[in-house]
Amino acid sequence: MTDSTGPAGAGAPRELEGQIALVTGGSRGIGRAIAEALAAGGARVAVIARGGERAAEVAEALPGAGHAGFGCDVAEPDSVRAAVGAVQAAVGETSILVNNAGLTRDGVLMRLKDEDWDEVLGVNLKGAFNLTRAVVRGMMRRRDGVILNVTSVVGLMGNAGQANYAASKAGLIGFTKSAARELASRNVRCNAIAPGFIKTRMTADLDSAVLADLRARIPLERLGEPDDVAQLARFLAGPRARYITGQVIAVDGGMVM
Ligand code: NAP
Repeated sequence: MTDSTGPAGAGAPRELEGQIALVTGGSRGIGRAIAEALAAGGARVAVIARGGERAAEVAEALPGAGHAGFGCDVAEPDSVRAAVGAVQAAVGETSILVNNAGLTRDGVLMRLKDEDWDEVLGVNLKGAFNLTRAVVRGMMRRRDGVILNVTSVVGLMGNAGQANYAASKAGLIGFTKSAARELASRNVRCNAIAPGFIKTRMTADLDSAVLADLRARIPLERLGEPDDVAQLARFLAGPRARYITGQVIAVDGGMVM
């Protein structure tokens, strides 16, 4: 039997052939791994990040042809509209949207500044709304589309020192379920992926005591790799997940269960 999600051997069928994927925050970390996995599945990928040059370099290095990178701040509706237009012109109309761009501005809540709250909610939550609104009309018209929102286990269980981040990620879960209900009749599926602690720049500064404590709370006793998250994204984006919508699936070594 041929496994179309297995390693891409010569001539292996690729389940995302003909799809156009737009991955926000695709220039590094989890977003980059998702861009790589979707490209390996046969999709043409538009990589978006504030750093447009880096996004273009990453797109250039993806397997296959027809990818491109674009500079865009997902928190800014005008920037998003311009980027989605540029993606359409250069790559094609988005059929798979991955809302992955995100950041943290941690602090105990009595010391959080207005800008720490606004920036995190603006990028992590409003960013997903901005992108979804900009691409969903085409998906509804074609009666075909996939939206993946990268939330976090922190949005499920909360985390001291991350009230703004947890609120943004919990909000993204409500957004996912509402979009799934609203768009299902047009065959547009919307799911959320909730990573646990994954080795990226976002977690690079955790000190060794915090890391040891984290490992003790993870049944699989290690942090995840970006590709662990990316493989779920590839599955959810593809035809094998055709009956899955409105779900939040954790990739966390068993931390939340
Ligand atoms: P990362 O390594 O810091 O990468 C973040 C990406 O988002 C970069 O490409 C960055 O590029 C882009 N970005 C940030 N702000 C943006 C904006 N305003 N507009 C457009 N792009 C923006 O982070 P990561 O660890 O891969 O995290 C990716 C996602 O997974 C985030 O949503 C994060 O909350 C979530 N997550 C991560 C973990 C973890 O343990 N790492 C766990 C749970 C959830 P520029 O800086 O050039 O814009």
